[in-house]
Amino acid sequence: MVLPLPEHVGEILRRLEAAGHEAWCVGGAVRDALLGREPGDWDVTTSAPPEAVLSLFAPHALPTGLRHGTVTVGGGRGVEVTTFRRDGTYRDHRRPDHVEFTPSLTEDLARRDFTVNAMAVSLRGEVSDPFHGREDLSAGLLRAVGNPDRRFEEDALRILRGLRFASRLGFAIEPDTAAAIRRGAPLLRHIAPERIREELTGILCGEHVLEVLLDYPGVLGVFLPEILPCVGFDQHSVYHCHDVWTHTAHAAAAAPPLPVLRYALLLHDLGKPGTFSLDEEGRGHFYGHWRRSVSLAETILDRLRMDNQSRRTILTLVERHDAPLTLSEKSVRRALARYGESTLRLLLAVKRADNLAQAEPYRDRQQLIGQWEDMLERVLRSGECFSLSQLAVRGNDLTALGLRGPGVGAALRELLEQVIDGRLPNERGILLEYAKEKLL
Ligand code: ATP
Ligand code: MG
Repeated sequence: MVLPLPEHVGEILRRLEAAGHEAWCVGGAVRDALLGREPGDWDVTTSAPPEAVLSLFAPHALPTGLRHGTVTVGGGRGVEVTTFRRDGTYRDHRRPDHVEFTPSLTEDLARRDFTVNAMAVSLRGEVSDPFHGREDLSAGLLRAVGNPDRRFEEDALRILRGLRFASRLGFAIEPDTAAAIRRGAPLLRHIAPERIREELTGILCGEHVLEVLLDYPGVLGVFLPEILPCVGFDQHSVYHCHDVWTHTAHAAAAAPPLPVLRYALLLHDLGKPGTFSLDEEGRGHFYGHWRRSVSLAETILDRLRMDNQSRRTILTLVERHDAPLTLSEKSVRRALARYGESTLRLLLAVKRADNLAQAEPYRDRQQLIGQWEDMLERVLRSGECFSLSQLAVRGNDLTALGLRGPGVGAALRELLEQVIDGRLPNERGILLEYAKEKLL
């Protein structure tokens, strides 16, 4: 079966073979090509030792991982060319203490994580598939290569890679592999938070995140213990047909697959178990749960070393996910002033997803959100003023009137508020008049 190889990958295989080496495409690109998905990066595995690869492709080759036999060939993202290898012992549950090169492709495939990632295809379309990856691929199954407990113990990151592939591809995890994932989960404590975050982002943004969140909260709970009280937590509420965790999973899955949105929905209701109360009629309430969610979210995002910009956006979305929407142009302008257009759009997406995950009779909030979005478009199109940069007067207009220092900023904000609330038109003459009378 001949793969649709990009020209530069074919060229690498040809040159390695011409120099007398074996060379195969391997790993995720083979998997994705067989699934008819566009492969992200292409990986090549070869019998050539790294030094031979380096000299064959000089000066377009970089020794990016010589210790593990990896040379990156070509500019841009490059193709990783790795020498057939066998991994030695693992002591840190992440990386082999040492690797040994081997002349055997089968041994190289045996060190790979899942059968669907352990297939190789040559330039001429020969397939090497000693672990029956093709069968698992057509059955939609993720199965560890070899003994699953041992494989996750060697490298615990494979646990999260497995969940990420399940979320992205919609594959089921084969029962022995799934059981080993659950048993091995505590080993995730050995994995660097940055690596955990990368995989978690991949899991959250997969098309099949719902199933993964519902099936593996105990695994995620190893590094997100804050989610565990939500699992099975009955809301005693007519608004909710789900327990807190099931609602969370449905809400995350209902949002567009943007990391900040999916994280915000993962975190939005974590404060519920800690703020739960029952009234005399037996109805559940979670007064101010958003505040507690924000504080748990902060802890989690810091633990995951989330970048500052995403962190800020996610926290705003968590904080405001439950804030009421008033349908008026004034409140649209106020919201634009407060959040800016892009965060406001994200907030509306959070509200939509949150509401879609509620009990059927209460999903009519979708309509209100839709009307609010229409109004937002109208306000944006009309060029109405909602920010200082649109205001018809500038700081130097106010200094010309004799205002100084922080008084200038305060006066500008006051004028903006008057305009946003519709009490003054955004006209220079009128605003200056008002400033002279009221703000000097
Ligand atoms: P993606 O589509 O996310 O790139 P991938 O399967 O290509 O998925 P890579 O990280 O690019 O993943 O790795 C390429 C190949 O290397 C994998 O398909 C797998 O064969 C092997 N591999 C990567 N990481 C591991 C690991 N931690 N343990 C075992 N094999 C691994
Ligand atoms: Mg890859």
